[in-house]
Amino acid sequence: MSAPAKLPPFDPADPLGIDDLLSADDLAIRDTVRSWAADRVLPHIAEWYEDGQVPVRELALELGDMGALGMSLTGYGCAGATAVQYGLACLELEAADSGIRSLVSVQGSLAMYAIWKYGSEEQKERWLPSMAIGETIGCFGLTEPDHGSDPAGMRTYAKKDGTDWVLNGRKMWITNGSVAGVAVVWAQTDEGIRGFAVPTDTPGFSAPEIKHKWSLRASVTSELVMDEVRLPADAVLPGVTGLKGPLSCLSHARYGIVWGAMGAARASFEAAVEYAKTREQFGRPIGGFQLTQAKLADMAVELHKGVLLAHHLGLRMDAGRLRPEQVSFGKLNNVREAIEICRTSRTILGANGISLEYPVMRHATNLESVLTYEGTVEMHQLVLGKALTGLDAFR
Ligand SMILES: Cc1cc2nc3c(=O)[nH]c(=O)nc-3n(C[C@H](O)[C@H](O)[C@H](O)COP(=O)(O)OP(=O)(O)OC[C@H]3O[C@@H](n4cnc5c(N)ncnc54)[C@H](O)[C@@H]3O)c2cc1C
Repeated sequence: MSAPAKLPPFDPADPLGIDDLLSADDLAIRDTVRSWAADRVLPHIAEWYEDGQVPVRELALELGDMGALGMSLTGYGCAGATAVQYGLACLELEAADSGIRSLVSVQGSLAMYAIWKYGSEEQKERWLPSMAIGETIGCFGLTEPDHGSDPAGMRTYAKKDGTDWVLNGRKMWITNGSVAGVAVVWAQTDEGIRGFAVPTDTPGFSAPEIKHKWSLRASVTSELVMDEVRLPADAVLPGVTGLKGPLSCLSHARYGIVWGAMGAARASFEAAVEYAKTREQFGRPIGGFQLTQAKLADMAVELHKGVLLAHHLGLRMDAGRLRPEQVSFGKLNNVREAIEICRTSRTILGANGISLEYPVMRHATNLESVLTYEGTVEMHQLVLGKALTGLDAFR
């Protein structure tokens, strides 16, 4: 072994040197998204969260301008970024708020991805360019009031009437629903589950907003009501039949969450470190107590392990080698650890931890939704359990 080169200094923001794994383009994209979030989200987020109102349309246009919508898709005005770059953007957006990352995930990885992957050329030309610039917002309707983790039994039904389709049913907890111009709706048909690109101004379609949420308050969440919604033959996504359609979209979106959750964790952790260095009790900064340092060290370990895991999955996705079970691995670990980091950070901030003056409680409550959507903890445990044992324990 040759004599070691002079070691780089320890960087508390990047203790494992993960930045060394990123290209100059990766870092430039990350910094652009980080500074957009610092300018456009952070100064307002506490107010948006408290009011339960967020200027989605305005933000969508700015995110589109930045190339963040459908970021890793190619063609149709999409940025064609790598999976790692898309992940870094998700992390930076969620460091501001999970609601902003949700807007981008649902737009790009669910609504746009479904059309990009399974749509006809006409559907792609019609929707994707305006979705990429944020002019048209998309939503993705899979969950129903009685069918969440097990969407196979969905009741929304699309029936053929001549060459038309007639859609009836209800979807629940749909991000972006009330602001969407196009809803990708999954429905039973005589041929199995199909996806439909539904213009939201079609008669019979409505999307009342769900109020009284205590999580993801800076995000629009809606019910979709479809009452005799008549669609032309070309509204159906021709490329897929069956549950594998929506599940493949979810896998794409979950990948973004693996990164995003670490953003919420990072923001909370950083708030805790700053607080621990300046808050004094018993005559000294609380960060000087061993019990606080144990919390900080454990959080740093989980935070940066989570980012490494996300980066590893990103490289696999870019190489076309990312399996859905590996995405489950990442979502299960990173969201669970992120929420733990937020809760521990909250304890370090004491009473201030429950205030919107600090980001910690907002991130912790947001992550309660992130823990549930795109597959709950239990669903990902069951996915991994099945992969490990070969035994299906879902039912
Ligand atoms: C803010 C927010 C935004 C959302 N956005 C969207 C969206 O844009 N589009 C969309 O389609 N959906 C969306 N969802 C819905 C989300 O995907 C569902 O909530 C999720 O799939 C869980 O379904 P559920 O709430 O009906 O819970 P359920 O499926 O009823 O589960 C309840 C509990 O039972 C557990 N459970 C269920 N089955 C089993 C089992 N076999 N073994 C062990 N435990 C089990 C679950 O893990 C969970 O803990 C959103 C949800 C939220 C909160």
